[in-house]
Amino acid sequence: MKTSQLFRHSRLRLAFWYALVMGVILSLSGFGMYRSLVQSNWKAMESEMESIAGTLHDSLEPMLPASEEPTNVLKRILPELCLVGQPCNLNPSLIERHTTGISDRNTYYIRLFNHQGQLLAFSPNQPTNLSQTLNSDPWQTFTSQRTRYHQFTIILHSADTDYLAHQQGLNPSWGYLQLGRTLKPFDAEVKRIQAILIIGFPLVLGFVVVSSWWLSRLAMQPIYQSYQQQQQFTANAAHELRSPLASLLATIEAILRRQPSQPQDLTKMLHTLERQGRRLSNLITDLLLLTSLEAQSYSKRFQSCCLNDLVSDLIEEFSELATIADIDLIEQIPDEPIYVLGDESQLYRLVSNLIANAVQYTSSGGQVVVSLTTKERTALIRIKDTGIGITTEEQSRIFERFYRVDSDRARKNGGTGLGLAIAQAIAYHHQGHLTVKSQLGTGSLFTIYLPCTVRTSEPS
Ligand code: ATP
Ligand code: MG
Repeated sequence: MKTSQLFRHSRLRLAFWYALVMGVILSLSGFGMYRSLVQSNWKAMESEMESIAGTLHDSLEPMLPASEEPTNVLKRILPELCLVGQPCNLNPSLIERHTTGISDRNTYYIRLFNHQGQLLAFSPNQPTNLSQTLNSDPWQTFTSQRTRYHQFTIILHSADTDYLAHQQGLNPSWGYLQLGRTLKPFDAEVKRIQAILIIGFPLVLGFVVVSSWWLSRLAMQPIYQSYQQQQQFTANAAHELRSPLASLLATIEAILRRQPSQPQDLTKMLHTLERQGRRLSNLITDLLLLTSLEAQSYSKRFQSCCLNDLVSDLIEEFSELATIADIDLIEQIPDEPIYVLGDESQLYRLVSNLIANAVQYTSSGGQVVVSLTTKERTALIRIKDTGIGITTEEQSRIFERFYRVDSDRARKNGGTGLGLAIAQAIAYHHQGHLTVKSQLGTGSLFTIYLPCTVRTSEPS
């Protein structure tokens, strides 16, 4: 599979899974919200019915007759109700009287039963086809003429009845009050919520699909970039390895073809072979070092290293090279020792790469100053030169592997363009960092920041 195809395929899979997971989460939360909304509406409706039934019960109870034949008394105390077997007044207002403050009072109806469960009276707006006998379940839901109704039944007591019941051992209740209502507004509200969900869900899902496609691109971008960098690195490494190898092979061929009578040529050629071999070996060592630095975040080999000793050793090491190049190499090291936790050989490599660059890219008569200071809990090693300098655009690229500002010139000097990449990797590996400030033609200042283990004050 081609790289671009592979990445497109991975992006597609990522977007698909993201959309799927988001879709499932949204569906579950949408369904949960729908259920809780419906349930809370239902509960509110039931508690309203309970409170109306309670009010009616309290108002009716003192007026209830004790008689076994209460029809005439009921007609007197509840004139708006229709009595079973008698002509009906079709203008109900009883509930309105007892439920002042409740919004839609015409939606309710009431029915009164005696204690044997026989219907005595009812509101004229009750649903048709209702049974004349009592179903004593407290809550009932039923459908009449394609409209749903909900009904609540409570027991009615009368003071006289209590007395009589106790006297005669009869049922202590007077009868039953049934309060019912149409579920039309409730069902309309449920339908409205369903409509919102049916229209809203595909819209949200579409948005999730689009955003997951966009997010998957964001997620894939760094992987793609790093993949491209790896590819570039492999190509660069192959290119860098090819030149010394080609020259090595050419030298071997020349040795094989040479006249046995010229021994001095052989020595020269073997020297060339050694030089090329060493260059190859150094390059491979550098590549391996870079890989190992990136792979591990912290090394067990870390130990306390004195930066004062490290810098002065390196100054001594480079002083001969600086003298040959006619460069003034100056060291500024404080008396108090500054310690950092690290791998000594790597720290040597870090500082020596920067001093080597400073000496290499400074023309004769110039100056290189290496100073060591501390600021708060950080050790600062500054390598300042008066060399050729680096333009602002180049400054952002010099830390890339194999990057050289002037490739031809650097290659002639034996540089591979890995020096600063290694230096930066070592600084990161020691929880530090490396910065550059430079001006073309004026000079450069490289600063290494490393966390110190011993706190010391900055020299004045
Ligand atoms: P290597 O260090 O691997 O032998 P190199 O010196 O060319 O090769 P780096 O040390 O990574 O590679 O430096 C990258 C580039 O940055 C160099 O080619 C050089 O152009 C520029 N550079 C680095 N240090 C300085 C400096 N002190 N002054 C001016 N240019 C510099
Ligand atoms: Mg270098």
